[in-house]
Amino acid sequence: MTAKILVLAGDGIGPEIVSATLMVLDRLVRDFGFAAEIEHAPVGGAAVDVSGRPLPDETLRLAHAADAVLLGAVGGPKWDALAPELRPEKGLLGLRAGLDLFANLRPALLYPQLAAASTLRAEVVADLDLMIVRELTGDIYFGQPRGVRVLDNGERQGYNTMVYSESEILRIGRVAFETARRRQSRVCSVDKANVLEATRLWREVMTALQQSEYPDIELSHMYVDNAAMQLVRAPKQFDVMVTSNMFGDILSDCAAMLTGSIGMLPSASLNAKGRGMYEPIHGSAPDIAGRGIANPLGTILSLAMMMRHSLGRPDLAGGVEAAVRKVLDQGLRTADIHTAGTQRVGTAEMGAAVAAAVTI
Ligand code: NAD
Repeated sequence: MTAKILVLAGDGIGPEIVSATLMVLDRLVRDFGFAAEIEHAPVGGAAVDVSGRPLPDETLRLAHAADAVLLGAVGGPKWDALAPELRPEKGLLGLRAGLDLFANLRPALLYPQLAAASTLRAEVVADLDLMIVRELTGDIYFGQPRGVRVLDNGERQGYNTMVYSESEILRIGRVAFETARRRQSRVCSVDKANVLEATRLWREVMTALQQSEYPDIELSHMYVDNAAMQLVRAPKQFDVMVTSNMFGDILSDCAAMLTGSIGMLPSASLNAKGRGMYEPIHGSAPDIAGRGIANPLGTILSLAMMMRHSLGRPDLAGGVEAAVRKVLDQGLRTADIHTAGTQRVGTAEMGAAVAAAVTI
């Protein structure tokens, strides 16, 4: 099969980290028989500049036709004054909604070589390997009614609605249990069932799903406030954590920081067909854009996730991940992870080093 991959470089450091990642993809095509048809399209501010809109119809059409999408990042000060519906970030939200990307997989993995880069003590985080599965298209971010209204006494009141239907909980639950089957077979479901009815249903549905379809997976439950505390107290207790959109938003950023550098972390957003969009968790980093110093490893590791989750090539995923470990062992570091005694390299140099280090 020829994999159809759509590449959306985006803004700021997006084109730099994507071009370093394409060096790795080129190597897979050239030397490991991986068949790919690669297309490029604009999104975010770059799309606003050429078409007046952050998500042109043609970009969304190509995304629908692709097996997987690789995204750099969007946004930047140049477009900050635009109306909300024209802002670059709307391009991202449009892709998530248009492709129905309901499952967000965010690994928090700390390479032992970088343990000193974390703000937590090395023994607390060394060898951390945690996967957060966040529901991405429901919850209070999308629930109706929402708005700001004026009360009878003239005071303004803001309101949003937390909603989850059984089918939404079941489909994200299945992604979490399937993910756990490929790892250590443990899922921790995070909710606030002691206070919120919507998450009480979440807990009931997760429990029933585990009993009926995943008896081989160990399921535990944790309130979100405790989960936040446990993430910084003893993060290695978790294997897969599954949670709702808002709780996942907060917990996944918290988990990301355990690993020291935002430039290292990949993510996948998947739909029911297993198609997905793959991107580093960071933004367009306008403060360092155009200088060739951004860390491309989060994007390169997103390519590895693409191989595993959408393109059915866990062998290539493993090869790319091993290559990243190899260059870290060699002491190569971009500026954000550079420490005394290691060799500082630029974005393109890092991409070339990973590409050269791939073995399958
Ligand atoms: P950011 O993630 O872009 O940057 C935060 C800090 O991390 C900066 O100091 C930056 O230099 C550094 N950083 C980020 N990625 C790095 C990398 N690969 N290598 C080295 N250093 C890196 O967040 P921000 O500054 O809050 O946002 C900048 C823009 O990105 C905004 O317009 C924001 O809306 C947008 N944004 C986009 C996405 C996305 O495309 N998914 C996500 C978050 C923010």
